Amino acid sequence: MTDLRFCLTIDLMKRVKDTLYLLESGTFVNAYAIVRDSGVLIIDTATPGKADGIIRELGSINIKPSDIKAIVITHAHPDHAGSCAALTEKSSAGMYIHKDDFDILLGKTQPPEPPYFLGKIATFISGHFFKFTSPRDPRPLDENSRIAGFEDLEIIHTPGHTPGSMSILDAKDDTLFCGDAINNRGNKLTGPNKFFTNDTEQAWRSIAKIGALPFKTLCPGHGMWISEHVQQKIQDLLSANRPG
Ligand SMILES: [Zn+2]
Repeated sequence: MTDLRFCLTIDLMKRVKDTLYLLESGTFVNAYAIVRDSGVLIIDTATPGKADGIIRELGSINIKPSDIKAIVITHAHPDHAGSCAALTEKSSAGMYIHKDDFDILLGKTQPPEPPYFLGKIATFISGHFFKFTSPRDPRPLDENSRIAGFEDLEIIHTPGHTPGSMSILDAKDDTLFCGDAINNRGNKLTGPNKFFTNDTEQAWRSIAKIGALPFKTLCPGHGMWISEHVQQKIQDLLSANRPG
């Protein structure tokens, strides 16, 4: 009998570039896979319960769990870190997060609350709805750190959405993974959702920082990747937000 979930999962995967895949495509949050001869790096792991689906998606291009060498989480929100513990267990990959979100991921501290009443309620509800298990033995990153096996990738601290929000720059591939620092809503770039952002001003400074980086393809945590006129779109976003 056809496994309908399997078919559905294969449909989810999209090839962004030769060695880059968007996983969980079609759901509201993205995970990405950088596939190299030396191994696979996963960026973000979607909501809890998605590890098997991600493994099935990777299986469709003949990638085994043991091929995954590193898992990087852009920030410690449950829709991005939800399946990192399970995926780490199933792959034995090294797991990385920025040092300023490290204790949040481990459940040792609570994330700072957004400065809006609705944001506080939204954070409370999502924290209970998407309960996730903290991974064993994550490794903290800062801008001077490197990911084992992927030393060419640069860690860019882009805080504001959370204290340890970070972007990952793949300069060789002209690609930036920005987590929730910038969203793509229907081919229109936006800042992070303010109801889940603990420091909006800092978040906009991070968008300006991203706008000064050299890349051609932006891979956000929510919405499709963008490869056309990215720098101009980021400058337009910054201009629209600038008080006139
Ligand atoms: Zn987030």
